[in-house]
Amino acid sequence: MFKRGSFIYSILKFKCPRCHEGDFYISHPYDLKRVGDFHHHCSECGFKYEKEPGFYYGAMYVAYALAVALFVTFWVSFNLFFTNVPIGWQIASIILATIVLAPYIYALSKPIWAKLFITYDKDAIQRYKESTHS
Ligand SMILES: [Zn+2]
Repeated sequence: MFKRGSFIYSILKFKCPRCHEGDFYISHPYDLKRVGDFHHHCSECGFKYEKEPGFYYGAMYVAYALAVALFVTFWVSFNLFFTNVPIGWQIASIILATIVLAPYIYALSKPIWAKLFITYDKDAIQRYKESTHS
């Protein structure tokens, strides 16, 4: 759907923000024991994911924004398309959706945050392989 190198690709595929090849996370978002655990370095380009200690604290603002966007999406669709749903069911479904999607929102927040600072570099893998084999 999205091409490698586009802003959204590495985020939705949970790939390295620099080369878009190596995996960012150790596991998938619903592996709750390891939720949010990411590799130290990209396996393909050697990029260090945590640029500095606490770098990903900023990702909580992204997670918050995504949760608000989810809430607004539900609220607007109830008010436009499902106007006969009682308010209690509206609130319950928003809470349920937030709980069910929380690991996914959390997993999305870190690659989005990283992507705000790190740009795609199509030559990163090549340069890394040259530097490690010489
Ligand atoms: Zn990489």
